[in-house]
This record gives sequence, structure tokens and C-alpha cells, in this order.
Amino acid sequence: MTPELQEMFDAAVAAHANAHAPYSKYPVGAAVRSASGKVYAGCNVENAAYPQGWCAEASAIAAMVSAGERRIIEVLTLSSGPKMGTCCGGCRQKIREFADVSVPIHSCGPEGLRRSFTLEELLPFSFGPENLP
Ligand code: ZN
Repeated sequence: MTPELQEMFDAAVAAHANAHAPYSKYPVGAAVRSASGKVYAGCNVENAAYPQGWCAEASAIAAMVSAGERRIIEVLTLSSGPKMGTCCGGCRQKIREFADVSVPIHSCGPEGLRRSFTLEELLPFSFGPENLP
């Protein structure tokens, strides 16, 4: 793992530890690196009214946007299930709002990197801000 990826992994591990996932028992941590190089992390936040919960990627993106940044250059997600956990469809679209399709998305487990994708691989033929007039 490169030092840059390790930084994102460590941030996702810390966020993962704070996940609020009492219903799914599926805590997730995510980290996004913005164009400035800064890493923003987030966790999933579930709710007793199930549809009101949200994903770790959404939390990380919200932290980035709240800090005034708008470009994602790298994404990392961390889940602890036995199967590799990739971003859900909704999060792929949320990432697309702020990322080029070439942006790498790393899927990690507690042991480290499981597989890397590009956003294009996870969300082919996507609709993004440039599609709008
Ligand atoms: Zn999601």
C-alpha cells in the first residue's frame, strides 16, 4: 500500500469504528481524497426509520463539501464483511457528481486492499453534471 493509500485506509478505519449501524450490523468507513490532497472520512449512519440512514461515502462527501471542496480524485471504502463490499449504486452516483470517471475507487477489508476499480467500471455510461446544458 502506498503512503497515500495508507492515509486513506487509516482514515476509513477510524470512521468505520464510529459507524452507527445497529440495524444492519454492517459498519462501513469511507475516505475521499479531494483535489487539494486532503482526505475526508465518513461512516454509515443508520436510523430507526430505516430510509433515513445514509452511507459512509455520503458522509465523507458531505465532509469534503462542507470544507468547501468540490473535486474527488480518489475514493476508498472499508467494510468488514467476508465478501468484498463495493459502493452501492446511489453512492456511485454521489461520487460521480464530484469525480471524473477515471477516479480510482478502492474496496478494502480490515486486512487491507481487496480490489481497485475506476468509477467508469462501477458506473458505466454514467450521467454527470456535464450532461446538463
Ligand atoms: Zn451507498
